[in-house]
Amino acid sequence: MRTGGRALVGVVALFGAAWLFAQGRPAAMAFEGARVIDGSGGPVVENAVLLIQDGRVAAFGARGSVTLPPGVVRVDVSGKSIMPAMINVHAHMGYEAYTTWGAHNHTAENLLDHLRREAFYGVAVAASVGSSPTAMSLQFQRDQAAGKFPPGARYLFMPGMAPPNGGPDHILREATNELHVVNEVTTPDAARAAVKRMADQQIGHLKLWFDDRNGTYPKLTPEVLDAIVAEAHARKIMVHSHAIRLADQKAVVAAGTDVLVHMVQREPLDDEYLALLRQKRPYWATVIGLGDPVEVCNKDPFFEEALPPSVVAKIRAAMERAPLVPSCGPLPGTAAARETQMAHNFPQMIKAGVKLVLATDTGIHPGHTFGSGEHVELARWVQLGLSPADAIVAATKTPAELMGLADLGTLALGKRASFIVLDANPLEDIRNTRRIAEVYLDGLKFDRDAVRAKWRTLK
Ligand SMILES: [Zn+2]
Repeated sequence: MRTGGRALVGVVALFGAAWLFAQGRPAAMAFEGARVIDGSGGPVVENAVLLIQDGRVAAFGARGSVTLPPGVVRVDVSGKSIMPAMINVHAHMGYEAYTTWGAHNHTAENLLDHLRREAFYGVAVAASVGSSPTAMSLQFQRDQAAGKFPPGARYLFMPGMAPPNGGPDHILREATNELHVVNEVTTPDAARAAVKRMADQQIGHLKLWFDDRNGTYPKLTPEVLDAIVAEAHARKIMVHSHAIRLADQKAVVAAGTDVLVHMVQREPLDDEYLALLRQKRPYWATVIGLGDPVEVCNKDPFFEEALPPSVVAKIRAAMERAPLVPSCGPLPGTAAARETQMAHNFPQMIKAGVKLVLATDTGIHPGHTFGSGEHVELARWVQLGLSPADAIVAATKTPAELMGLADLGTLALGKRASFIVLDANPLEDIRNTRRIAEVYLDGLKFDRDAVRAKWRTLK
């Protein structure tokens, strides 16, 4: 095959030649015998045949109902389950390097590492929200679309908006300040100008923070909030709004937020809010998992293998229980009340008709790994009363719709063949999404062993 010039040769030298050989995929592959959960929320097909041609779904149905083309490569996946690869609409990529964290880590190579971690765990697309530099992100997207990188999750990003000295929590803000990432606005005019610049760059989503962090941060005024949403909608940009308190969530939903980020965890919801949600039906990115105890405390290799042993040891030894700090210390006294409140609020939100989408907040703070957080969030939803089938739709079809990914999210005809082969049925136990046998992106088997081999070199 052609390598297309010196730049690509350099990339290949950097990431190893295995990727080149992987490009030679067979024209047609038939996955036979699995239970296929197609992501649409419709009936599951047992003992299915999934035919892939040129990286797309060419046919799908019960065994016997699909005619296989000559020369097809047949893959026996009897007893396994297949679901679409996931789409994460909310992470903070680029700063984490596992033994260090910060703006100095923000390179294309590190971003690619995060995206390959996402792919390892069955994620086809991941969005970095409000914390990534625009010019660099646009260039990365162009390079990724041009095939200059080895396979990984597709990179999406959106710019962030907040008042000066507002926005991200104090850790993330160290990095975003250094790279001047957040669009700092204090007036409706400045807000409209910033949104116009995004539209000029064909950016389709933005994120704003509406939070005074218990009186310690400046918060967007209602006038600026309204200006952002109105200008964004006039330019077909969707608005993701961070809000944690009930009053703030009401304000951003009333203003016309498209995607509500976070869950009210420490206050009951009220009738006024639920009526507003029924009327507006925003998408909802819960990002619950990052507030939970981390899974490496359970010595589960699914989470542990992605971290250097020194970091695992540090997390296990940490007894501090500060927000977002990975620790295996005892839960704070307020944890039980948070749990009770969430168990109450989550089903109310769902019943009000919000459109749940997968989101993790991974990367916002050192020590959380990309890709595994998605599985934590799925299990959290089910624990709070969602069915596993609905959880899978919220991790696949709904976020694809939200992010305008017309060829992803389900395994319907013509969609990209991006899916996860699981050793056990996630509809019986959602934690079975962790039993990953293989991940395919665009019909190509993702080299999970290569990612693992890199992890083993981490100190
Ligand atoms: Zn976030």
